Amino acid sequence: MAESEKFDALIIGAGPAGSFAAERLARGGVRVALFDGRPAGEPKACGGGVTSKALKAWPHLLEALGRTVEEVEMYAPAGARVRLKLDAPFAIYSRAAFDSYLRDRAIHAGAHVVPERVSVALDGNGRDGWRARARSGESWHGGVLVAADGANSPIARRLAGALPNAEMEVAFGYRAPLPKGDDAPTVIAFLPGWVGYAWAFPRLDHISFGIATSQDAFDHRSLDALLWEFMVGYYRVREDPRAPLWSSQAKNSSAGDAHNAEIEKKLRASVNRYAARIPGLAPETWNTRRVGSDTWALLGDAAGFADPMTGEGIYYALRSAELFAEAYLAGRTAAYEERWRADFGRELRRAAAMRRRFYGEFLGAPFTDRMIDFARLHPGIRRTLRELVAGDQGYVNLKRALARSALWPL
Ligand SMILES: Cc1cc2nc3c(=O)[nH]c(=O)nc-3n(C[C@H](O)[C@H](O)[C@H](O)COP(=O)(O)OP(=O)(O)OC[C@H]3O[C@@H](n4cnc5c(N)ncnc54)[C@H](O)[C@@H]3O)c2cc1C
Repeated sequence: MAESEKFDALIIGAGPAGSFAAERLARGGVRVALFDGRPAGEPKACGGGVTSKALKAWPHLLEALGRTVEEVEMYAPAGARVRLKLDAPFAIYSRAAFDSYLRDRAIHAGAHVVPERVSVALDGNGRDGWRARARSGESWHGGVLVAADGANSPIARRLAGALPNAEMEVAFGYRAPLPKGDDAPTVIAFLPGWVGYAWAFPRLDHISFGIATSQDAFDHRSLDALLWEFMVGYYRVREDPRAPLWSSQAKNSSAGDAHNAEIEKKLRASVNRYAARIPGLAPETWNTRRVGSDTWALLGDAAGFADPMTGEGIYYALRSAELFAEAYLAGRTAAYEERWRADFGRELRRAAAMRRRFYGEFLGAPFTDRMIDFARLHPGIRRTLRELVAGDQGYVNLKRALARSALWPL
């Protein structure tokens, strides 16, 4: 490629946000260069869960190779369980499969994909757009810069300001084998004694286990031990449905302990670990953060767009890409800022404001314990939880939905 090839838009990062923006812009006739430096075969650390809200918005996502899920088991910190039958399925993807599906669509639409890690700088002191440069010295010029380079984006730090540690979540986990002879359930378990939750998301050929929690209170050794307890508990419950998920909550454990140790030993020989950060913006930051102008925009994790309560980011990566592309194609690039605020900014700000109480205490017990105890008895709460998992229950009216059953601490 010639040294100074010119594009209308340079998109840095071909995760869901970058590839989706590239596809939409290229379909609209925009000359797009899409860069990604991820080594081949190294998937982005992610649970790969895509809510039914996202699948309804973009039904073609179901063409990507993945698994759909119609039931979720949810555990309270004290161990109570509720089974939620979803009204519409959500999907679980391997990120290698999901990302390459979206990237192939961008290529098919006409985007020029460059498999390189690049750095970016203004050209001609800002008068002439942007330049992306690879280590080899090769460079590409573009009129608008779109940073979709993930939660650690150096471009976002430069253009929108760095986020403090308190506004980052940490998520880590293991890819592990599917249990034998069982249709591995999808599990979400609120953590005993910690903010956040553990998940078991079965994919086509393995399960992704993980924990998402606040970076502020992160203590790797204790949380890793808790995740192992959860993973062993998951396989144990498959063998004996009466076994507790958290072995530390077992009443009589000596026989169970030996068996758990056996399960753990086998698992340790077969798992792969992964870890990464997820943005979790504070309510004030949602008010003040600016992620676009008429010459640049941040999308997805680079913008800070993940649900502060759950860490879900794929929907917001895709939606921010779509909103940016619409604004650009309408000739009003700067309108992206007002569009994302109106579309999902208020919801996510509300989620950030509710987070402390959601993971706090209510009537002398963790709120999440109360919520699952109530859900076991109360179809209205079960419905609200189902809709939360599906992504259909917004946070702006969540308080009202829970308060109706006297559950939410007003
Ligand atoms: C452990 C974990 C579990 C999660 N589970 C879920 C889940 O189940 N469901 C969900 O909705 N969300 C989940 N998330 C959040 C989700 O992964 C992110 O919100 C989502 O990937 C954001 O997409 P993105 O396109 O903005 O960024 P990313 O997916 O991070 O993509 C950014 C891309 O940019 C590339 N890049 C970075 N810098 C450069 C550069 N200089 N040059 C070229 N390329 C570059 C990277 O290689 C990467 O491919 C999870 C996150 C973690 C950490």
